Amino acid sequence: MTDADVTKVRSLLGRYSGGDLSAIEELIAPEFFTYAPGADEPTATEIFAGFAADLRAAAPDLAIDIPDLAPGDDGRLHGSAVLTGTHSGPLFGATSTGRDFRIEIPVTLRTANGRYAVNAELAPPEAVAILRSIGLVPPADQMHLPLKEPVVVPDFLLKVLFTGQVADKPCPHLAGVRVTQPTTDRCDDCGPDDVWPALRMCLTCGHVGCCDTSTNKHAKLHWEQSGHPLMRSIRMDEGWIWCYEDSAFFQRRTLESIEARLAGNA
Ligand SMILES: [Zn+2]
Ligand SMILES: [Zn+2]
Ligand SMILES: [Zn+2]
Repeated sequence: MTDADVTKVRSLLGRYSGGDLSAIEELIAPEFFTYAPGADEPTATEIFAGFAADLRAAAPDLAIDIPDLAPGDDGRLHGSAVLTGTHSGPLFGATSTGRDFRIEIPVTLRTANGRYAVNAELAPPEAVAILRSIGLVPPADQMHLPLKEPVVVPDFLLKVLFTGQVADKPCPHLAGVRVTQPTTDRCDDCGPDDVWPALRMCLTCGHVGCCDTSTNKHAKLHWEQSGHPLMRSIRMDEGWIWCYEDSAFFQRRTLESIEARLAGNA
């Protein structure tokens, strides 16, 4: 990685900041930093271009630069990506804060066939703080309460946040899923006065319980008492799956392939 790479990356980010979304497709390689997607999976190019378009819609004046980008001894480029703009439109279902923002994300880039694979060097608490600053995660003292807005954070982001990786983790339990669609919209175990931010459904027996940030945490309790490790989100149109035993996260497309398999067996 050379100074020419630095110039190229910053020039493409300059084009994006000027409103040219295609610059992201020229910048981002199909492969992720530590993972090459399979033929049936979205590429990093597609994922990043999608986020770049979503962010542009939420902040039409969004500018991204990596002013301190420089080659390191490891043959990679390092720097802090700086995102600035005015949060003036909805993002992932959250209404705009109307505020100016400045977000810094340390990044590492490596070359991949003329484009770049990018890694954000963010620990989960830092990532949550960023999501919270733009209204996608409630304040810490309200995490157990019903959500005020119909926010649906993309399940790709949740997977990286929850597992620290893009690749799916192995989980032998997926083959044992028997039910996928809920028949209730309440927690099976909460009282009439209890509240929760979100509901999870057990994919083994269909039990519906309140989520891990709720006060009662009945979904997790169900796993501990029954040994049924897999649950899905049944909040709004979320369809991601979590395995308590393997700490594995699967996006909606995994649920859809399981439902196709179950329909084929019916
Ligand atoms: Zn599992
Ligand atoms: Zn509950
Ligand atoms: Zn169960």
